[in-house]
Amino acid sequence: MKALGMKDNAPTTMSVETFSPDPHHIGARIRGPKARSFTIHTESNHSLDTSATPWLSAVLPVAMQVKTPVDFDGDVDSVAIDNSHRAQEILSGWHPRHYPRTTIGFRETLTSVSPAPGVGCFFSCGVDSFYTAINQSDRITHLVFVHGYDIKPDDHDLAAQALASARAAAGELGKPLIEVRTTLRAEFSDSYRVPWGHIYHGAALAHVAQALSPHLGTVIIPSSYPSGSLKPWGSHPDLDAAWSSSGVTVEHGELDVTRFDKITRIVESPTAMTYLRVCWENRDGRYNCERCFKCLRTRMGITFAGGECATLPSPLDPQAVKRVSLNSARRQRFRETIAELDRRGVHDPELVRAMKSAIRRSYVLQRFGR
Ligand SMILES: [Zn+2]
Repeated sequence: MKALGMKDNAPTTMSVETFSPDPHHIGARIRGPKARSFTIHTESNHSLDTSATPWLSAVLPVAMQVKTPVDFDGDVDSVAIDNSHRAQEILSGWHPRHYPRTTIGFRETLTSVSPAPGVGCFFSCGVDSFYTAINQSDRITHLVFVHGYDIKPDDHDLAAQALASARAAAGELGKPLIEVRTTLRAEFSDSYRVPWGHIYHGAALAHVAQALSPHLGTVIIPSSYPSGSLKPWGSHPDLDAAWSSSGVTVEHGELDVTRFDKITRIVESPTAMTYLRVCWENRDGRYNCERCFKCLRTRMGITFAGGECATLPSPLDPQAVKRVSLNSARRQRFRETIAELDRRGVHDPELVRAMKSAIRRSYVLQRFGR
């Protein structure tokens, strides 16, 4: 229903009403401008935080993009509220036109919560998560697998395959696996086309981290980039920290290692070489497609580090490397790979030629269209 005289584009508040049908299931009904409404579910094999705190990072970047105030019908942790001002400062500093600051309303703030002793680490079975899980094994008590972000909530086959691997890998690494399934991305942020990589994925992971406050006092988001390559990105050491509450500190992973350093470390782990999952394209529903940029680049790293990986078994095909599709960020990754090979004294002229050819080809395709 629309109020008389109200324009369709009139800004209204984005309101968030939380619910929890049982301790393992939390949800939010969100009503946004233009009468859009969403019901989001987050479920786990562990009990979850039923306050409004986990929904702060989930909703705030979306409200900023929509340029509307956000109102929580529930208690939000006071430290999380304080930190979220910093999150807004970072996002609006990076993207002043598209993510201006907004205001947050809430019922009342919780006083501080004492953090649980657990230390969690997000664990997708990728290079970054295997590296952090192995490198910080001494302090990590739980690994956290999320279904609903890189794997769509309704892709049950791939999710089952990925989850089985995460369970087996966590078992071999001696850590309990916390399993979470959420419709947050598919139901909410994708509906508003909030850019997953550039803006939202750290905030979405922080939603899960905060939801696990009954068990975890610290949650590590494995890093994507070393400190020298940091740029505005949805998971960044400054932004991730700004999604912390009194109960859960959100930590960004290691910044002093390149992707090659990480691969060099994880090829020594039989567990990583059995369960590694790097593919986002999952062509034909495959665990790793072995044809996309991420698969090929990881395969190269493993070869150069002298490893063998059961989930990337095919020999490197220079023809496939030549044909891979590159945008400017990926061109940069290939240039870094060529420089890294040179630095490490690895001689593979055919592969270097293939990478250079892919870089040249990508400029031509960019200029003349695909
Ligand atoms: Zn792939």
